Amino acid sequence: MTGPFPVLLYHAIGTDRSSWIAPFSVSASTFERHLELVSYSGRTALTVGELRLGMAGNPPLPARPVVITFDDGFAEIADVATPLLARWGMPATVYLTTGFVGSVSPGGDRMLSWAAAGEVADAGLEIGAHSVTHPQLDTLSIADARAEVTRCRTELQDRLDVPVGSFAYPHGYSSRAVRQLVAQAGYDSACSVKNALATASDPWYSIARLTVTDRTTDEQLTAWLGGRGAPVATPGDRMATRLWRMYRRTRTLATRGRQRPHAESAERPSSPEGPHHPGGGLP
Ligand SMILES: [Zn+2]
Repeated sequence: MTGPFPVLLYHAIGTDRSSWIAPFSVSASTFERHLELVSYSGRTALTVGELRLGMAGNPPLPARPVVITFDDGFAEIADVATPLLARWGMPATVYLTTGFVGSVSPGGDRMLSWAAAGEVADAGLEIGAHSVTHPQLDTLSIADARAEVTRCRTELQDRLDVPVGSFAYPHGYSSRAVRQLVAQAGYDSACSVKNALATASDPWYSIARLTVTDRTTDEQLTAWLGGRGAPVATPGDRMATRLWRMYRRTRTLATRGRQRPHAESAERPSSPEGPHHPGGGLP
């Protein structure tokens, strides 16, 4: 029986970050210490793709899984994270926003190039999709949301020549309609944020994750690895989430064309459902 387990969400690695992403970064030494804690926990590290197979029982999940994920595609995934993961013998899933590849973030942070993303894939990390332009998908028209979800997968598969089976919602935001689009686009899983422990019975298109930053203490991470210290994910959208989406849709209409990407952890960590933070406080 697989108990609650952590699916960890990282963004940038390294201390040389802009103020834009710094609150969502971890230093290289912190990241390595985290891998040490993961290793000592005795948990079995999986990619999201392997997790998804296990959730379907084929093959069954290990008793104590753990998953490491990265969102957005910061350059240090290749320079720093991939070698450290290899040293500790751990896989990970890297969700790339294709419109960011080879560019810099709004804060001036270097993102992976296509060549570096290819090296990450060649090193055995799983490549997942994180949209083209990092919008709040649940505030877009169905046609626009579908284009974000499908074009990202096609481009990643074409450019990197790897299968792409998993999607991560930008900012963690999804809706029933968005989750259906993701399934129709050929993905077999998708990650939310929720800042909750995942379970083997999480919906395949809304797997819960825990945001990790430099403010995440070793005690906190150790508790998560022990299957404690965070809410356990609940399926479906709660009323508060639906009301918050209505507010964001209205705001999107009012500010159309001025949206800029920001990190998933803009979601208020105290909320088990995740996103309830107006604007996220970031550019
Ligand atoms: Zn993101």
